[in-house]
Amino acid sequence: MQKIMKRAIFPGTFDPFTIGHYSIVERGLALFDEIIIGIGVNQLKKTLFDEEKRLDIIRQAFINEPRVKVTTYNCLTIDFAKSVDAQFILRGLRTVSDFEYERTIGDTNRILSGIETVILFTESDYAHISSTVARDLISYGKDISAFLPPNVKL
Ligand code: ADP
Repeated sequence: MQKIMKRAIFPGTFDPFTIGHYSIVERGLALFDEIIIGIGVNQLKKTLFDEEKRLDIIRQAFINEPRVKVTTYNCLTIDFAKSVDAQFILRGLRTVSDFEYERTIGDTNRILSGIETVILFTESDYAHISSTVARDLISYGKDISAFLPPNVKL
C-alpha cells in the first residue's frame, strides 16, 4: 500500500524569518514528511524585507534540509495549501493574544476547506522573539543576529 505523504504549509509574513519560526519548522519535521514555507506577499502590506530577501534568509536556514521548501504566495492561505497538496497548516503560538488570533483563522480555514491547523507552542527560550522587535532593532541600527536562525547572514 502506498503511503500518503504528510505535507504541511507554514504560512507567514516572515519579515524577517526568525529563530522562533525556524524552531517551529524543525520540530514540525517530526510530524510531517515535508513542510512548505509560504511567504504571504500582498502588494498592500508594506514590509521591511522584500520578497527576494525573505526567500534568501529561509533558503540559507534550510540549505541542508531537503524536506523543507520555500515559496511565495499571494492568494488565500487555504488555496495555497490546496495548490501544493498540503493537508495541514503549521503555526506557532507564543502568547495568549496569539491564541485568540490563531483560533479564529484556524477555525475559519477548517470550516472553509477541511484543512486542519496544527499548532506548536514556542520553546520558552524563543517566546520573546518576534519579527516586529527584530525590525525595531534594525531601525535603531542594532545587530539582530541573535534573532536569526543558525547559519543565516543578512
Ligand atoms: P503572520 O503575519 O501570518 O502572523 P508571522 O511571520 O508573524 O506571520 O508568523 C508566522 C507564524 O509563526 C505564526 O503562527 C506565529 O505565531 C509564529 N511565530 C512567530 N514568532 C514565533 C516564535 N518566536 N515562536 C513560535 N512561533 C512564532
